[in-house]
Amino acid sequence: MIGTVIKSTGSWYLVRAHADGLLYKCRLRGKFKIKGLKVSNPLAVGDEVTMELEGGAQQAVITEIATRRNYIIRKSTHKAHHAHIVASNLDIAFLVVTLVSPRTSFGFIDRFLVTAEAYSIPAVLLFNKIDLYDEEAMAYLQQVVQLYEQIGYQCLTCSAHTGEGLEPIREMLQGKTSLFSGHSGVGKSTLVNALVPDLDIKTSEISAFSDKGVHTTTFAEMFEVGQDTYLIDTPGIKELGVVEMKKEEISHYYPEMRARLNKCKYNNCVHLNEPGCAVQEAVKKGKIALPRYESYLSLLQDDDSHR
Ligand code: GDP
Ligand code: ZN
Repeated sequence: MIGTVIKSTGSWYLVRAHADGLLYKCRLRGKFKIKGLKVSNPLAVGDEVTMELEGGAQQAVITEIATRRNYIIRKSTHKAHHAHIVASNLDIAFLVVTLVSPRTSFGFIDRFLVTAEAYSIPAVLLFNKIDLYDEEAMAYLQQVVQLYEQIGYQCLTCSAHTGEGLEPIREMLQGKTSLFSGHSGVGKSTLVNALVPDLDIKTSEISAFSDKGVHTTTFAEMFEVGQDTYLIDTPGIKELGVVEMKKEEISHYYPEMRARLNKCKYNNCVHLNEPGCAVQEAVKKGKIALPRYESYLSLLQDDDSHR
């Protein structure tokens, strides 16, 4: 039987079987090793696994894991030099953003987008709280949306309070596994609850399986919002993980820079003040937006502080 891991406690897993749609409480058989990656948890939510029924009702043993399409990691809190896999097989990474109350910075948005690019997860920006925007804020929103759409990122606007703009988001979620991220205060929880009105009922089936007192806070929660439709809630960029990046790699995760890299004179160009740099040239000509270049420079600098 094949299924998707929807909850992990570290010692056992809850798997939704694809064939009968039922939940199975599973343990692992043997050892799973992922090539080239030292991990503190062998399985994460989103993993597709093969299982064999075992004794009692709705209990099974996981025997195999399918190759992950992608995954997000963070540093393990209890094992040095090990990564903790937060979730895998993601289809979309949503970043909830607000331009007022609170104002999300370009730096924060771009860091998220760079991380999503590095993980090969398509990112979508969700501008929430548009009910609070006055004319001026709306005009600013248009500019910001245009900036990111030009690069190729999908942008959606909504209000979790009034319900405006929620339908297109619901449609996007259908049949996919989506990650929701954002600064605290942007309305992520309100939005998720508005998108999935009966979330409480849906999560109760899963809770019924949970042992009381089991500490699961280090593991991401995956919510089932419909058939084959999952939401993963992650508190912030830290949970999205620290991808180790070399300096000259960072611009590969800026699509508008990536498109110009082969025109730079030096192939290890970091686009700072090298001669014959196509990126700096594009910034001068206004073809790369200044805020994007500035966020790039700050990522480059951050990188310095890690060495
Ligand atoms: P989280 O920290 O991102 O999960 O944010 P919350 O969902 O807790 O929301 C933070 C605050 O913003 C709460 O007071 C919400 O009621 C409010 N809020 C959330 N969405 C909206 C919205 O679309 N419009 C307005 N005006 N307020 C919102
Ligand atoms: Zn360059």
